[in-house]
Order: sequence, then C-alpha cells, then structure tokens
Amino acid sequence: MLRKNRLFTPGPTPLLPAAQTAMASFTAHHRTADFRALFQRVLVDMKEFIGTQNDVLVLACSGTGVMEASVSNLTSPGDKVLVLTAGKFGERWTGLAKAFGCNVDVLSVPYGQTFSLNDIRAKLTPDVRVVFVQATESSTGARHDIAGIAKIVRSNGDDTLLVVDAITGLGTTHLDVDGWGVDVIIGGSQKALMMPPGLAYCAVSDRAWRRMESTTSPRFYFDLRKERKSAAKGESAYTPATSLFAALGASLDFIRGIGKGDLAKGREGLVDNAEMCAAMTRAGVQALGLKLFADSPAAALTAVCSPDGIDSGKIVKEFRESFDAVVANGQGEMKGQLFRIAHIGYYDYLDTIGILGALEHVLARTSGTDVEYGTALRAAQGVYARGLSNKQQLIGA
Ligand SMILES: *Cc1c(COP(=O)(O)O)cnc(C)c1O
Repeated sequence: MLRKNRLFTPGPTPLLPAAQTAMASFTAHHRTADFRALFQRVLVDMKEFIGTQNDVLVLACSGTGVMEASVSNLTSPGDKVLVLTAGKFGERWTGLAKAFGCNVDVLSVPYGQTFSLNDIRAKLTPDVRVVFVQATESSTGARHDIAGIAKIVRSNGDDTLLVVDAITGLGTTHLDVDGWGVDVIIGGSQKALMMPPGLAYCAVSDRAWRRMESTTSPRFYFDLRKERKSAAKGESAYTPATSLFAALGASLDFIRGIGKGDLAKGREGLVDNAEMCAAMTRAGVQALGLKLFADSPAAALTAVCSPDGIDSGKIVKEFRESFDAVVANGQGEMKGQLFRIAHIGYYDYLDTIGILGALEHVLARTSGTDVEYGTALRAAQGVYARGLSNKQQLIGA
C-alpha cells in the first residue's frame, strides 16, 4: 500500500502547512520596518501563547541553547544549584550546570517516575540559587508537578529561582507561569509550535532579570540582557532566523484560530487536544495489554513498554517499514525497552486513530501472537466518545 511519511516523535513534530508556506515565501531583511513589525507582533503573541506577562525572548538555536542560556545567565561559578532529574533531559541540566562550574546537587529518581515533593523539600536548603527541572520529561513520558514544585521553591524565598524546561510541556500542559512563580520557562519551535527546529524561546521573571545583574558565568551569544535590550527596539542582537519568525507568526495565528480569535483560549484548546490524543492513546495501548512506562504520564507523549522479549527497536522499525510512521525508541539506557508516541502540536483525532490501528498490526507482526484487530481502536473510540459527551471542547481552525 501507499505510505505517507508521518512523524509521531516528541520533536520534531508535524509541520503546520501555513507555517511552511509562510517560511517559503519570506524574504524580508531583518533590519527593516516590515521585519520589526513581525518580530514585535510575535513577541507579544508569544506571551499569550506561554501565558505570561514576563518578557519573552526568541533566539536562533535549538532548545538546549536556551537551557544553556538560563544556566550561564543565572549562575556564577561555585553557585549551589539543585537539579531534579528523572531522565535524559534532566541529566542535560546536570551536564550544563557542571559545564558552568556550578556546585550541583542532584535529586534523581528512576526513569519513568516523578519526584516526591517531600524529597524536594528536604533537598532545598536556603543556599540553593537555582532549581532546574523539566515540565515533561520527553525521554520517559513523565509529567512533573510544576505547580507543587514551584510552591516549594517560592517558599524558599526570592533568592532561589525556578527554571523549567517546558520544551515539550508548553502547548501540551496547563501551566500557570506567573501564578506559580516560574522564573524562566523554556520552549522550542519544533514541538507544540508545529514548526521546524531552529528557534527556542523563554519567558524571564523580574526576579531572574535582577539575578543577572550580579552573575559572572561567561556568556556572549546567549547574553539575555543584551537580547532584551535589542528586543525593546524590535530587533534581535544578531541575525534572527527570519523565515522561522514568519513561520512562527503563522503558527500563532493558527493557535489564535483554535481559540476563535483569542490566543490564550487557543493555547488552552491546543493543550486539551493533546490531553485527548494522549488519553485515547493510553487507553488503546493498555487495551492491547501493553504497559505505560511513566507513572504520571504527560499529555505530550505516551511512552509504552515493549512486550517482554521484544526489542522496541523492532517495533519502531516495523512502524517505519510498514507505515512510514516515525515513532521514537527509548533513549540511552531505555533504548530497546520502550517506544514513544507523541501528541504534540499538529496532531489530531485521525492521527491518533491511525497510529493505534497501525500499532495493532505492528504488534501482531513483531510479537508473532494473535491480536484481535480493533482492540486498541475500540478503547480509543470510547475515550473520544466519552470526552464528547462530557462536552470536552472540540477544536478546529
Ligand atoms: C526536545 C527537548 C529538548 C531540546 O532539545 P534540542 O534538541 O536542543 O532542541 C529539551 N528538553 C526536552 C524535555 C525536550 O523534549
């Protein structure tokens, strides 16, 4: 049969057609009134998308670039920081903080799990300058309780900052950045914004800006204070990724359309969509007898344990060869043990039903056992139907 190439990966994610065409036709030079207008509009809209009044910066780099910026701008060598890690991306915080000479304390829980708030409370001494965490750990599919973590960090006083890698969390998870007191929240273009990789962004609190007055870690390209100054004039400090800004403008318009003209409502709708796709997927895989890998599964992606004795690489390969569907393997030590299906950004009901239907065949072929076709689909259909009867808002733009 004919196969269409489709991404089900937690980044990059499927591209919004309007974002692709906006990119393809964009030619403006970045030091012009036209580009400045686009740049300023995008920065205002990004506040709405993130749900914050804090300053937002959009930089030309992958997500890790802004993760690095948050370390280099908010710390000085020797500063005590606390990293909460439960997977590959948590470990990235540890690597970054060590690279900048921080005195790194780590609260680590096994892959697939999330933190006990009491353990965090016990680790959080008054001398901790920054706490680093993920909203959703994309390597394991776990969701961390950012509201609960923020409450603990805020009760530690204004000298402790909270930095959240929400690169797969934004647009898939309800987050109250300002209400909870998150100091830096980080996102990337290749996730819920439905665009190619190349832009990363953050919202920065007043507390975090004040911290930057005194920190001494080396920084140059990622000097956030310099970017803030330029942004106030409608520019970026260095050449921005102009065509990606055009794509971002189109994506934000699409999300505003989901909210029928209200971008904040559109963001909520996008999150509800991910929640529904994830709930359908969880029900479908469990109906097939498969186990979820994460204890507190995120809406961004569903990590599924490979059946006993089957390398998840075989499952990933079968998805690719039979259906040209790109599903992610486990990362690092989890390679071969799980596969990951994302629901980030431009995914819908039909994508969800499609991947579950494909999974039934993939499982039959890789396990050599009988699968009753329709098992996953029936469970997912039930979740969808119940969601509708609960008046779960259906979205479309
Ligand atoms: C995708 C992702 C990143 C960023 O990775 P880059 O490859 O640098 O864009 C960071 N954290 C999480 C949780 C992610 O999912």
